[in-house]
Amino acid sequence: MKELPWTRVKRLQRSDVVAPLQSQRHCPLCHSSVEDELFSLYDFQFFTDQQGCNRADHRVVCCQQCGLIYTNPCYTPAGFQLLFDKAGCSYGHTAGRIGEQVAWLNGQFPIAQSLLDVGCGNGDLLKALPQTLARHGIDIDEQTLNRVAQDAPGIDFSVCDFNGLKGLPQVDVITMFHVLEHLPDPDDFLAQLRSLSKPSVALVVEVPVVDRAAELQDRDVVGFFTVQHLTHFSKNTLERMLAKNGWRVVHAEAMAGYNGWRVVAEQGPVQTDVGNDASGLIAARSYLEVWKQNVELVKRRIATLNGAPRIMIWGAGQHTEYLTLLTALFELNASFVVVDSDPMKQGYEYHSLPVLSPDQVPEHEWRTGSFPIVISTYGGQQSLLEILKEKGVAAARIITLYDRTSRY
Ligand SMILES: [Zn+2]
Repeated sequence: MKELPWTRVKRLQRSDVVAPLQSQRHCPLCHSSVEDELFSLYDFQFFTDQQGCNRADHRVVCCQQCGLIYTNPCYTPAGFQLLFDKAGCSYGHTAGRIGEQVAWLNGQFPIAQSLLDVGCGNGDLLKALPQTLARHGIDIDEQTLNRVAQDAPGIDFSVCDFNGLKGLPQVDVITMFHVLEHLPDPDDFLAQLRSLSKPSVALVVEVPVVDRAAELQDRDVVGFFTVQHLTHFSKNTLERMLAKNGWRVVHAEAMAGYNGWRVVAEQGPVQTDVGNDASGLIAARSYLEVWKQNVELVKRRIATLNGAPRIMIWGAGQHTEYLTLLTALFELNASFVVVDSDPMKQGYEYHSLPVLSPDQVPEHEWRTGSFPIVISTYGGQQSLLEILKEKGVAAARIITLYDRTSRY
């Protein structure tokens, strides 16, 4: 590539698709339909352009009856498939925490002989656990599981649809690390686990909780109410959803340094009355106050770009879509290019802007170009800063949107 393909932003019209991408639902915990809206982003584009049909409304509500915070409308199965098709590296991972999880599981369950990891993904956790343990993993993506099973013959992987488990291996420990918040019907899934597991099983569930979102005060404009999560638990609503399905919490702890609330539950009585608790709503409101201030800080950074005729953005993921909807970035009178290291996004367009791989940018453009480069990620800001410095980009050209970042 001799010249960078500088382009003007053009946001495509949202187009109707054959299958509905979202549908309204009742509260996943108490089934009431009386809700208050807490947060919304309309016409959110999921990653690169797809003729305007990969758009959905992101609306987070709080149930008036029980206090559960959840996304409504929810993605339909067809919608989920279409919208998250190119999530690639943008999708939440806990890969960096495997070492801690293994040490914790060994300490917590020293005599366990078998373990099932629900939502096992690439099987990284299972592969890191002792080989003496009978290890099982279930997930929805058949292709990934087939590939993973080839490198890990000692582990039993099976494909499952979270909506209708056919059976379950009888294990001592079941783990669900950052899975429950992604499921359209977590209540039903917990009921299925209860009816299919053995009475002595220990269930480990870790989710991000709104109580900690308020405490941690991350600066990220994407923040707690991300489009990937369908239920936005609090410590209390997680415990009540477990209790409703016959799971009694016997241990709970907050993870250091990121928003993870880890509980161990055993089989217990089914609590049919889910009650009401406002602690999640109070935490959500206080979190949103801080979040609004964070958005203002980012807007101010973006305002410093005013007058630049050409701007490079590194990041074609959901963080950039938050900037599109919340700030004036793409209203600037400039031409843009977007760079992303995720092959799922390269070669496509994002709001009509070409998405390049970093290798497609000629070396002299990094070293001597005059255009500013906006780092559009929160968790990855520090590592991108280092990559840009290595490429010889002058510090004055690099626009970071956050003073400090922390890991999720
Ligand atoms: Zn409810």
